[in-house]
Amino acid sequence: MKIAILSRNSNLYSTKRLVEAIRERGHEALVIDHMICDLIIEQEGPSIWYKGAKLTDIDAIIPRIGASVTFYGTAVVRQFEMMGVFTAIESQAIVRSRDKLRSLQILSRSGLGMPKTAFTNYSKGEKMLVEQVGGAPLIIKLLEGTQGLGVVLAETKKAAQSVIEAFHGLKARIIVQEFIKEAKGADIRAFIVNGEVVGAMKRQGVEGEFRSNLHRGGKAEIIKLSREEKQAALKAAKSLGLNVAGVDMLQSARGPLILEVNSSPGLEGIEKATQVNISGKIVEYIEQAIETKKKVKKIKA
Ligand code: ADP
Ligand code: MG
Repeated sequence: MKIAILSRNSNLYSTKRLVEAIRERGHEALVIDHMICDLIIEQEGPSIWYKGAKLTDIDAIIPRIGASVTFYGTAVVRQFEMMGVFTAIESQAIVRSRDKLRSLQILSRSGLGMPKTAFTNYSKGEKMLVEQVGGAPLIIKLLEGTQGLGVVLAETKKAAQSVIEAFHGLKARIIVQEFIKEAKGADIRAFIVNGEVVGAMKRQGVEGEFRSNLHRGGKAEIIKLSREEKQAALKAAKSLGLNVAGVDMLQSARGPLILEVNSSPGLEGIEKATQVNISGKIVEYIEQAIETKKKVKKIKA
């Protein structure tokens, strides 16, 4: 098989490991920078041009789309889908997961635990927003933030109201969220491949920091999930339509609370913490999915 990784940088840990895993399992690997793909759409069907040539005979793609290029990146993934190329992560699921509000709406419908969250159309009712989520301290998040940037902890009602006012004044879209104190600056990342938790880690933020993101200096260690945590993580990934996902949860007095589901979860932290060959599991999943696709085609024919 020929498997392409959509990635802006072939030197990134995740990209390098996926290339290795693809080769180890006897396939051909290539790295394609989605930002310099040109999409041609015409009656003869969709095609993709890359570095002066038309891309042909790719069997599957593994999208690694950064949050800053979701629009173009997902257009490229969609083009591959239209060309009948199998994708480990669907374009629509990436779009869904990138918007914190939209994801939480879907997760809430699925009955999953989550910090209580409020959203308004730049309403002047900052006080109401603050009260809705149980008063201060509370969390304010930019809708499309990532790596912990754009997440603010407001310690008092006054601080919360003025931060909300400031964001609204800038026309920045934010959600206001109940602060889960019991999490103590830690969260859990469950890595899911094809309906299975293949690894889990607990990330602890640096002293005095409520954000546990590794990019903010957090430290990770392997953790065994409870049954409840496992089930919540699997259900969250499923309801967003992600077959490869990093589900972030907080441990709280009322059980696991889902924070977000990442559609391009990094491999470095989780592989180093768990010592599991997660890249290999992703390639294995692609092999199985393509095998199933072939069988279905045969039956239909
Ligand atoms: P990002 O997409 O930037 O990673 P998250 O929503 O995952 O944003 O928040 C970053 C980190 O902040 C989380 O990993 C968690 O440690 C902490 N955090 C986020 N929301 C809450 C909350 N409601 N209560 C307590 N801690 C939170
Ligand atoms: Mg996060």
